[in-house]
Amino acid sequence: MATAKHGLDGLAIENQRVLVRVDFNVPQDDSGAITDDTRIRAALPTIREILGRGGRPILMSHLGRPKGVDEKLRLDGVATRLSQLLGAPVKKLGASIGPEVEAQCKAKQGPILLLENVRFNSGETKGDVGLAASYAKLGDVFVNDAFGTSHRDESSVSGVARLLPSAPGRLLEAEIEAFQRVLTNPERPLIAILGGAKISDKLAVIDSLLDKVDCLLIGGGMAYTFLKAQGRQIGKSLCDDAHLETVRAALAKAAARKVEICLPDDHVIAEKFSADAASKTVSGDIPDGWMALDIGPRTRGLYTQRIRTAKTLVWNGPMGVFEMPSFRGGTEAVGRAVADCPGYTVVGGGDSVAAVELLGLAERIKHISTGGGASLELLEGKVLPGISALGRRF
Ligand code: AMP
Repeated sequence: MATAKHGLDGLAIENQRVLVRVDFNVPQDDSGAITDDTRIRAALPTIREILGRGGRPILMSHLGRPKGVDEKLRLDGVATRLSQLLGAPVKKLGASIGPEVEAQCKAKQGPILLLENVRFNSGETKGDVGLAASYAKLGDVFVNDAFGTSHRDESSVSGVARLLPSAPGRLLEAEIEAFQRVLTNPERPLIAILGGAKISDKLAVIDSLLDKVDCLLIGGGMAYTFLKAQGRQIGKSLCDDAHLETVRAALAKAAARKVEICLPDDHVIAEKFSADAASKTVSGDIPDGWMALDIGPRTRGLYTQRIRTAKTLVWNGPMGVFEMPSFRGGTEAVGRAVADCPGYTVVGGGDSVAAVELLGLAERIKHISTGGGASLELLEGKVLPGISALGRRF
């Protein structure tokens, strides 16, 4: 396992069967056509490097959440797309374990192979050790390039990494480096922006970030539990009453640590959760019968000013219901400010990534994370099993 510490550069690849866990969990339409191949493209540098270094890539991935074999979730379409992108044949196998698969994977040279959806195996998501051993028979070395699944202790992610000489692929390496730059000795000020609807997902992240950041900007639906905890009127805005006490504790921790927490003080409000709802802007309290669906212009201005000062910045979660054009302004303003920020900027989480892409800002963000759940767990300060199993602690 000594090679794992030196990453992909230190892993013996030449004339080796390189088992690679990739994340080809791509969105498909009803006919099974791939609607977005970003995840396949993201794995190309590692696959090309393995080929360039004389190794034979044997790729494996999950797709969707099948319970047993599901014809709609086979990886044949993925193999076709991958082959087009690589300009090389990719042979898709009908299973991911067993004697026939082992026979196909036996030679150290040969076509690129793609195993069948690993989640067709019942033990996969439970991290079954026997299943991991079956995968390990297929390769001489293992590379994990599936950041989006690295927070899961699954057989094809962490299980097989414990059994073969292993290393992170180039995509995983870039993710690790980006979050390390934010979380370990960041250039200051370090600012975090948190938004989105589900406050329960973010409380542990807030608690952990309060030990690290200089300033926390909060927006989106989760802001209203904070405002209610401060005694403000929030109308029928989103609120998680079960977490009011935890939110008060977070506010107290921030005050004790002298971390500035900014909350919205003006809002775009509507009477119903709908794209065509009549809306208006209010400052301070939100009237009964109205719900806040975006941060208001003054808050956007204040957040933009703060963002401008950041030397390091991480953003997770939209500032409002950005899917509806009338409630997109706050996310757009924050997105533009993050794009203009001269510091080191990281955007993580499915919805904030979707927002920067929708707004055409992606190229101006220093690092866009490919993993929503995995990036939140890193921000929580957790060690991800798919990374620690490579012999490298985050
Ligand atoms: P999350 O999955 O927790 O990151 O939440 C993302 C979702 O939060 C997006 O679909 C947004 O539309 C939604 N959201 C953002 N702001 C609000 C708000 N003020 N009220 C209700 N939903 C919101």
